[in-house]
Amino acid sequence: MNRPIPTVPTDAIEATPPPTSRIAMALALAVWLGLTAGGVALLQGSPPSTAVPLHHLRVERGPKPPPVQELPAPAAAPAAQPHPVIAVPADAAVPAAVCAPWLERWPALQRKLCEAAQLAPSGALSVRGAPIAWRDVAPPDAAGVAQRVLVVGAIHGDELTAAALALHWVALAQQASSQRPVHWRFIPVLNPDGLLARPATRTNAAGVDLNRNFPTPDWEREAAAYWEKRTRRDPRRWPGPAPLSEPESQFLHAQMAQFAPDLVVSIHAPYGVLDFDGPQTPPQKLGGLHLDQLGVFPGSLGNYGGLQLGVPVVTIELHHALRMPVRTEIAAMWQDLLAWMDKHLPVQSDK
Ligand SMILES: [Zn+2]
Repeated sequence: MNRPIPTVPTDAIEATPPPTSRIAMALALAVWLGLTAGGVALLQGSPPSTAVPLHHLRVERGPKPPPVQELPAPAAAPAAQPHPVIAVPADAAVPAAVCAPWLERWPALQRKLCEAAQLAPSGALSVRGAPIAWRDVAPPDAAGVAQRVLVVGAIHGDELTAAALALHWVALAQQASSQRPVHWRFIPVLNPDGLLARPATRTNAAGVDLNRNFPTPDWEREAAAYWEKRTRRDPRRWPGPAPLSEPESQFLHAQMAQFAPDLVVSIHAPYGVLDFDGPQTPPQKLGGLHLDQLGVFPGSLGNYGGLQLGVPVVTIELHHALRMPVRTEIAAMWQDLLAWMDKHLPVQSDK
């Protein structure tokens, strides 16, 4: 029911791992996490990927962005503040299996980048039974109270750069360059069905815009009215039959309660701006993206997290859905985020 979106032609055959029961996957994950926690080791942090994928792909849609600008290298991280992070799982087969269907669909994503992120199945499944993968990068308990940050990419499946940016930031998180310890949880692809569809779709496999499916006040009336009147029943923006009707939004909703983030970073494309919802002072810019608060949408994650829960939600709108920012821009956005967190984001002990 979605309007076709231009996409990258490829002859690769889509391969979605067979559905597995949630309970079995949760048990497997619990075992895996237990093994990982038992093997905590200090890491120096891996260097940022030098790969900047997707350069050759054309712009999908959206307003014309300003010229791509090489930004100066970000300031060096504070030298005396390394926060070691949890060791990566030893079994490389797990992240390879997570990445395989994405790479078959999107060869430009780059195997090295994806597999280095060491993703594992969260236990949650999409409408079509695709695993929703995640990766935690966390300091040891001895580092003190950590800020908890949830980074979500590709809520909209046709925004591939959103997933890729999250993967790049997994590498940067392992450098532990913030002044306070941070427990990062990365979910690079919340909407795997949309990402794997041909053509890729903004919505999930049920045709729902997941970023309109969160339980905001008076959702039944507001979300329907917005969709019918403001979007003129755009099928790409259908909020769904009910709030949290979709397994993908249910999973993220559960993360808001279980992980209890101090900050949510939601990555999108291609509007080239920075948006913010929440009671805190918003960041004025992340790299070359400048704050331009777009308004409040019924059922959006920003509305739900920032306004209803009081958890700040930084929404990144990259300039392109299929062409990545340059490497220095990726790092500059990251450094600006860390600087804003250090200044404006309270830790649990401050609250
Ligand atoms: Zn989006």
